[in-house]
Amino acid sequence: MNAKLDSSVTTRPVTRQTFDDVIVPTYAPAAMVPVRASGLDLWDQNGKQYLDFTSGIAVASLGHCNPILVDALTKQANTLWHLGNGYTNEPVLRLALALTEATFADRAFFCNSGAEANEAALKLARKHAHTKFGEHKSRIVSCLSSFHGRTLFTVSVGGQAKYTEGFEPLPPAINHIEYNNIEAARAAITDDVCAVIVEPVQGEGGVVPGNKEFLQELRNLCDKTGAVLIFDEVQCGMGRTGHLFAYQGYGVTPDVLTSAKALGNGYPIGAMLTTEELAKTLNVGSHGTTYGGNPLAATVALTVLDIINQPAFLARVKEASVKLVAMLEGLCKDYPEILSFVRGSGLLQGVVVADAWKGKSKDIQKAAEAQGLMMLIAGTDVVRFAPALIVTDAQIDEAGRKLRAALDGLKAAA
Ligand SMILES: *Cc1c(COP(=O)(O)O)cnc(C)c1O
Repeated sequence: MNAKLDSSVTTRPVTRQTFDDVIVPTYAPAAMVPVRASGLDLWDQNGKQYLDFTSGIAVASLGHCNPILVDALTKQANTLWHLGNGYTNEPVLRLALALTEATFADRAFFCNSGAEANEAALKLARKHAHTKFGEHKSRIVSCLSSFHGRTLFTVSVGGQAKYTEGFEPLPPAINHIEYNNIEAARAAITDDVCAVIVEPVQGEGGVVPGNKEFLQELRNLCDKTGAVLIFDEVQCGMGRTGHLFAYQGYGVTPDVLTSAKALGNGYPIGAMLTTEELAKTLNVGSHGTTYGGNPLAATVALTVLDIINQPAFLARVKEASVKLVAMLEGLCKDYPEILSFVRGSGLLQGVVVADAWKGKSKDIQKAAEAQGLMMLIAGTDVVRFAPALIVTDAQIDEAGRKLRAALDGLKAAA
């Protein structure tokens, strides 16, 4: 007989301290514990309200508990959850049609995260090169400061040594070049390279937009050498730059594009998009994952895509970006001892801290949180803003006021 649901197990009080007691300590979460949210508003266990300019690290682009998504998810939850890949399903087929119609791609592979999407892309590139050119063509070129996920393969491809330390031996045949350095790209991308992977806008690495000339040269070098060009749009894709995908704004088309984060607005899903020719490489049995493209995830992603991929929606992202950048530039002007300059694309913006605050981006984040503003950092020298794409002008003004209060406090304490 089934045990009765033990209500004390499902409802007993938990606090931030519980995290320190029972969770593997890979994260250092904020002191407050969020309990509910709506749009860009969020409340913690004490009932304190926050304005969320993180959207869960560029994930909840349509806001928390977006009613259209809640409705789509609830309907699907009452219809069909999961089957495994022995069966396909209607939502995933519709999602694949919509994504391929909206992009250069002919085919899609679905998984559960950005790391998995990149893992699939890199495996595809390896197998394609080995099949078409031979085993010698296996080198992967990536950029310093890049971030591609935390599996052993993707973390090794990523360009931040602090994330691989202690996990050696790492997969071999991976080289890193300086981001936006055309000469370095020319030197590194030779005939033994199977894949070049790049974020059109680096997110975790400090919010650094790629130069068009650099991305175009990567395209040229891949064409010349037969390497597969992979754009990691896990963070910068799905409308964040004001284009559905950032490559569309650059006019440089990759062979493979990876998406995750905002694709599911918080419901875990990742996607790898590619061409007909490359897709053939991953034949039956060569790759897969249990949950990839399950009906729940696919339904949410399809609904997200339908909302974001509208000209008026993307135009508003560009308009809101101008407003956000102006607000942040105003802060740099008024607080030069703390903030230096703004860089980024669309609604993914970073502010590089001034010399005196190098290494202390987290202090600024904490001061903002005390004022009721949630924001991100990107390394120790950059504060990062990735509000939901539905952010209003009034919310940007409010964030500005809260930031000023936070910066006044930091100035007074310094
Ligand atoms: C977040 C991120 C990833 C990893 O995504 P996960 O879903 O955390 O595995 C990969 N690439 C980029 C550019 C990211 O920002």
